[in-house]
Amino acid sequence: MDLIFFGMQGAGKGTLGKSIAERYGMKIFETGGELRKLAQEESELGKKIKSIIEAGHLVSDEVVMEIVENFLSHLDKNSSVLFDGIPRKVEQAKLLNDLLLKHNREYKGLLIDIKKETALRRLTTRRICKTCKAVYSADYNKTNCEAKTANGEQCDGELITRSDDNPSAIETRLNAFENETVPAIKIYEDRLIKIDGEPRIEEVEKLAISALDTIMKV
Ligand code: AMP
Repeated sequence: MDLIFFGMQGAGKGTLGKSIAERYGMKIFETGGELRKLAQEESELGKKIKSIIEAGHLVSDEVVMEIVENFLSHLDKNSSVLFDGIPRKVEQAKLLNDLLLKHNREYKGLLIDIKKETALRRLTTRRICKTCKAVYSADYNKTNCEAKTANGEQCDGELITRSDDNPSAIETRLNAFENETVPAIKIYEDRLIKIDGEPRIEEVEKLAISALDTIMKV
């Protein structure tokens, strides 16, 4: 079973996605992360994507769907996938559902629900690790990352503000969520699990696990 994660920016999709994917042995498709990798390239496409992301706008469906198609076509049939950051609008939902059907994949949606004020507060105060991209909320007051690397050492990367976590891009991104992503979420209404994303992440994780354990067959 694949899961499509929905939630306003700052809902905790990335952090929760990592623990959920680990619990159920899933692969994560993180759309923003894939696009940020492309944005680091010196190519014309890389530069274009970088400026779109920094302004808080959406990258074209053509580019985004090509990355998803490529990911799905190299995927082993037995792995399940957690999609984070796609679909962001109705057209992408239709294209993604067609692709999932074509690849015979079963899926459900999971919405982490937060208020706009919560999103604003979290986005304007969060920091990310420059090296491993782990996200830290305002109550973490150290300057370096305490996440563990694959070989068990401390990452220790510098914590920075994400380039699109600036007031103007945040406003643009939250408006895009309301105007474009909310209508896309409606398409999944009959297969959507909703959880409250307002509590602390540990609490949200418990809510997600109790909703998912039966369908993910743990
Ligand atoms: P995120 O890390 O999910 O907040 O995404 C960061 C940025 O990547 C977004 O603000 C968009 O510029 C771009 N992006 C991520 N997902 C998509 C998508 N599905 N469609 C278009 N652009 C996207």
